[in-house]
Amino acid sequence: MLSNLLQEDRTFEPPAALAADANLKAEAYARAEADVEAFWAEQADRLTWTQTWDRVLDWDHPPFAKWFVGGTLNAAYNCVDRHVEAGRGDKVALHFVGEPVDPELSGTRSITYAQLKDLVSQAANALTDLGVETGDRVAIYMPMIPEAVVAMLACARIGAPHTVVFGGFSSDALASRLEDCQAKVVVTSDGGYRRGSASALKPAVDEARAKAEGLGHTVAKVLVVKRTGQEVDWDDAVDVWWHDAVDQASTEHTPEAFDSEHPLYVMYTSGTTGKPKGILHTTGGYLTGTAYTHWAVFDLKPETDVYWCTADIGWVTGHSYIVYGPLTNGATQVLYEGTPDSPERGRWWDIIEEYGVTQFYTAPTAIRSFMKQGREIPDQRDLSSLRLLGSVGESINPEAYMWYREVIGGDRCPIVDTWWQTETGAMMISPLPGVTAGKPGSAMKALPGIAADVVDENGDSVPNGSGGYLVVKGPWPAMLRTIWGDDERYRDTYWSRFDKQGFYFAGDGAKKDADGDIWLLGRVDDVMNVSGHRLSTTEIESALVSHPKVAEAAVVGAKDEDTGQAVCAFVILRDSAGDGGDDIVSELRKHVRKEIGPIATPRQIMVVAELPKTRSGKIMRRLLRDVAEHREVGDVTTLADSSVMDLISSGLDQGKGED
Ligand code: ATP
Ligand code: MG
Repeated sequence: MLSNLLQEDRTFEPPAALAADANLKAEAYARAEADVEAFWAEQADRLTWTQTWDRVLDWDHPPFAKWFVGGTLNAAYNCVDRHVEAGRGDKVALHFVGEPVDPELSGTRSITYAQLKDLVSQAANALTDLGVETGDRVAIYMPMIPEAVVAMLACARIGAPHTVVFGGFSSDALASRLEDCQAKVVVTSDGGYRRGSASALKPAVDEARAKAEGLGHTVAKVLVVKRTGQEVDWDDAVDVWWHDAVDQASTEHTPEAFDSEHPLYVMYTSGTTGKPKGILHTTGGYLTGTAYTHWAVFDLKPETDVYWCTADIGWVTGHSYIVYGPLTNGATQVLYEGTPDSPERGRWWDIIEEYGVTQFYTAPTAIRSFMKQGREIPDQRDLSSLRLLGSVGESINPEAYMWYREVIGGDRCPIVDTWWQTETGAMMISPLPGVTAGKPGSAMKALPGIAADVVDENGDSVPNGSGGYLVVKGPWPAMLRTIWGDDERYRDTYWSRFDKQGFYFAGDGAKKDADGDIWLLGRVDDVMNVSGHRLSTTEIESALVSHPKVAEAAVVGAKDEDTGQAVCAFVILRDSAGDGGDDIVSELRKHVRKEIGPIATPRQIMVVAELPKTRSGKIMRRLLRDVAEHREVGDVTTLADSSVMDLISSGLDQGKGED
């Protein structure tokens, strides 16, 4: 079992006004527990069904679930048409902000629900004309532009599951995904704007198509949006311009109702621990889960709120909390194409000020990079429109939480630290903003309707104050249905560890504090064993980040003759700390000893400029473990910047930062 190291006493009550008017109140926990299927049926009622289900859950053949059995619906109709039919056609769905500030290039525009309905209908007609039929897979490899959202919804509208591949991935990654899900059509663009210049996408599609061909799979058509106007190679037999096919298509399109279990999309996980897995999500349960959590956890008031999630649509966060959740709920949101620092470091805060953003959802990696730069940049903007902040992707260190709360949230906005995965489809553990007194660094409690727990080796619930394995004790509507094309791998990966108990095991370690609130402690594969104590990465990292000179930290265990394993830490300093001074390493070691205790004191601390991260910004500790144990560095294909590992390895060889 995992040791419980860090103690946190700060709590923040929900703002009184928010609590009084909250979408979901405290009674929901008990109501969901009393009759969980009735609770989910009530949530499914937020959707418009063509035919109502006759059974909420079929769990007769675990781990294969069916939700809202017999029900039929169309996801795109739920995201778009029904808002227009309800008289909200003039409401803005997307405030698109292009990265270039030059109005000639930016393409910045606001798209209403009525306009979105026309665009999605046109794209659905165009895809059908290209030969896409219900059940065919369509790959989407695009920058963060409105057409990406339109393409996803058009696929959903005609029942063709999409697989969105992050636009930063290489042609190899794209080719293997095209082959794995046998995509018939690819939707892409000539390029997109990133870090101040036009970066090409179409050449990678051309290469990927050739590579897929080599793997025995033929892509029939490529639909290309003109975004940057850069040169592209063109194959008349395959390539089709979006402005020819879509703009000319009819805006009339009747959505067909599909079975609740009709596949909606395949999304590959971000690959922090290894080769990405093709996660299959279906329609009715997934939409129910994303709509419910987006409404409850962000306390969405669609008439007045302006919501912004900074994730890329190439990740599940973009699927669930840019496309399906917010649009099903009729939200108005910001969609931003570029990076936070283009053309300068305050770009995100400018956007919040300009559009009056009320809910802001981002990742700890971004928060820590702003912390590194210092508060002067956000302090120059008016962020008073914000009323709620969210975090997802990794544990948010208590110090990063405090910075987010004070500097971005003006000490008035509750923070929702949302734990979930590509596999879970929707948020699972999170504070409720009108109910929960938040603790910096804790995801708090499973949401009403979700049965999450922390258990020991035997699957027994651990007492408060102890750590163990994070499990989900039964099916939930937005859960993955399988790994694409590999039911056995699905069963093995998620359901075999606690087979007897029938628990879903997510791969993460967690603890329950004295109040029973849940703290994520990192992946169990990353747990260190130091002199018989099982230590998690997260708590030692958080102790390091609580030092005023540190912005970011990654901790791994390396073999040690005396203790079995020893703690090795890699830290990024805040800009204000300069090089940290001569004593930085001993200063940080002392700090950890004081915050946690001698057992957690790092044997070695290395000050680095960058950490190895996936393209979605998560730290890849397995690579640092290779470095710390002087092994050849493992698979780096999902790494955002592979040169980072060379830098770190060469620094280590010179013995820099040893103590
Ligand atoms: P792969 O499974 O391919 O190795 P991945 O697990 O990084 O990649 P995702 O599904 O994008 O792929 O990420 C889910 C994981 O992210 C969780 O299992 C957890 O480790 C981490 N995570 C997400 N949100 C939080 C959070 N709020 N607190 C702590 N960890 C989080
Ligand atoms: Mg995972």
